[in-house]
Amino acid sequence: MRIGQGSDLHLLEEVYGEGSGLWLGGTLIACNLRAEAHSDGDVLLHACTDAILGSVAAGDIGRLFPDTAEENRNRKSSDFLTEALIIATSKGYSPLNIDTTIHLQQPKLAAHIPDIVNSLAHIMRLPTTAVNVKAKTGEKVGPIGEGLAISAEAVVLMSRQNFAATESNDIIT
Ligand code: MG
Repeated sequence: MRIGQGSDLHLLEEVYGEGSGLWLGGTLIACNLRAEAHSDGDVLLHACTDAILGSVAAGDIGRLFPDTAEENRNRKSSDFLTEALIIATSKGYSPLNIDTTIHLQQPKLAAHIPDIVNSLAHIMRLPTTAVNVKAKTGEKVGPIGEGLAISAEAVVLMSRQNFAATESNDIIT
């Protein structure tokens, strides 16, 4: 077994009409905000991607998908997470469960949590019983509480796959 942790933060901007909304876990939450980003700004998927990469000591999302690379502009963050899962699989590991927290002052996410869980579980090919998404406000203080930023954290537990079926044995447990 291995454990991985990831976190991410993006600044928020007010946007009305086209291009508005927050991508969270691969689902779009309709609101008059947008996360400033080179990609779609999905902080939850970015935190999950870093957790997966961290679990197999494979670096981080910024190293694999630099925001200076034109091919990553407006890229769907589910691509990053899928690529991280392929890397983990190549090293012999797959996720058992993932626990996450989103920090956002508004809009309230409670009603959207089931959609976010379903979407994240689908991308990670996990049952929804293995995926948890929590949401907290910033109590109106600091960059989260003042509505200037959104952040997310993820912790993932990875289990070893059938070793004979993997391409690489560079992780010793
Ligand atoms: Mg990010």
